[in-house]
Amino acid sequence: MNSKIVHGACLCEKIKFEVTLPTKWCAHCHCTLCRRSHGAAFVTWFGVNTSQFRIIKGENQIKWYFSSAESQRGFCTNCGSHILFKSTKWPGETHVSLSNMINPIDRKPAGHAYFDTHVDWLEFNDGLPRNNDPDLIRENRL
Ligand SMILES: [Zn+2]
Ligand SMILES: [Zn+2]
Repeated sequence: MNSKIVHGACLCEKIKFEVTLPTKWCAHCHCTLCRRSHGAAFVTWFGVNTSQFRIIKGENQIKWYFSSAESQRGFCTNCGSHILFKSTKWPGETHVSLSNMINPIDRKPAGHAYFDTHVDWLEFNDGLPRNNDPDLIRENRL
């Protein structure tokens, strides 16, 4: 088992964190909540057990925002970088924005979640599976 540690940060670097590999999954999310909170065409997330995620610096800089009844998004109160997601739908799991990683992780994105709501101003032709149910990608059932 690969227990290598990789690091990430927000834009201003007041928040720094580390992730102990292995990750559980990695996927692009096209849901409107991700798009709007990150100001991006889509967001690439990976998931780890919460025990494998550790804030090294700036814990008090993180603001958790409830984007739905069950889910919260963590962002830097100084620079606004959205870096974290957690939900009662996936207890014990922390989702981390791949774009905020300094080091590569142990896998590539496996598919496109919530593809039904993808933007129509960007072409997606990477051949990866597209599905509206993120659990299919998470569980490698596509
Ligand atoms: Zn920041
Ligand atoms: Zn999303």
